[in-house]
Amino acid sequence: MLLEVRNLQASYGASQALFGADLAVGEGEVVALMGRNGMGKTTTIRAICGLMANRSGAISFAGREVIREKPFRIARHGIGLVPEGRRCFPNLTVRENLLAAARPGKWTIATVAQLFPRLGERLSQYARTLSGGEQQMLAIGRALMTNPRLLILDEATEGLAPTVRRDIWSAIRRLKADGQSILVVDKTMVELLPVADRCVVLEKGHTAWTGRPDELTAELQDRYLGV
Ligand code: ATP
Repeated sequence: MLLEVRNLQASYGASQALFGADLAVGEGEVVALMGRNGMGKTTTIRAICGLMANRSGAISFAGREVIREKPFRIARHGIGLVPEGRRCFPNLTVRENLLAAARPGKWTIATVAQLFPRLGERLSQYARTLSGGEQQMLAIGRALMTNPRLLILDEATEGLAPTVRRDIWSAIRRLKADGQSILVVDKTMVELLPVADRCVVLEKGHTAWTGRPDELTAELQDRYLGV
C-alpha cells in the first residue's frame, strides 16, 4: 500500500474529532473518503498531511511512518494536497503560483496547461482575478507541480458551475487513467462513485464501512450518507 492509516485519532484542542479512522490507498488506486457533514473527512486529510497538532495512530506512507513528521516533510515524501477552499497566492500570477510549487517530474507548466487549457491561456493573469473554477484548477495544478505520489482532493468541485465541475471530473479521470494515486472527498456521488476503486465511509470520526463502489448498496448509502 502507498498509504496506510490505522486507528487515526485527532483533536481540536480538547475536542476529539477522530476516534479511529482506518484507510488505505494502493499504488494507482482512487479511494473515495465519504461520510455525512462533520463526520471527519477533512480532519482525516489534515491529520494525514500533518496539519493536526493533536494526532495519534499510525500513518505509513511509501513505507515510512509519518505520524510524527511535520507537514512540509510529509509533503516532500510525495503527498500533494488540494485543500478545501482552493488556496492560491492571490497576488502571484498563474505561472508564479505553479512555479512556486514545482518539483522535478513529469508535471510542468506545459503538462498542467494540457490538463487545464483554461489555465494555459491565463498564465500571466493574477490568481485573484481567476474565476472560482479556474482557481480550483490552479489549486489542482499546484498540487500536481509537486509531482506527488499521492494526490489528495478535498471537495474539489464544491460550489462550482456544472460545466467547470465537468472539466474537473474529466481531469480527475485522466489522472486516474494515467496511474495517479488519489484520495478524494466529494459530495457528488454520481461523479465520484464511477471513478473510485474503493470507498471508505466515516461515521463520527471512525471508519464505519469500506468496500467497492458497487457494494455500496442503497441501504448502506441511506444509513451512512443519507440526509
Ligand atoms: P464536511 O463535509 O462538513 O466538511 P467533514 O466530514 O469534513 O465535514 P470535519 O470538518 O473533519 O468533517 O469535522 C469533524 C469534526 O471536527 C466535527 O465535529 C467538527 O465540528 C469538528 N471540527 C472541525 N474543525 C474544527 C475546528 N477548527 N475546531 C474545532 N472543531 C472542529
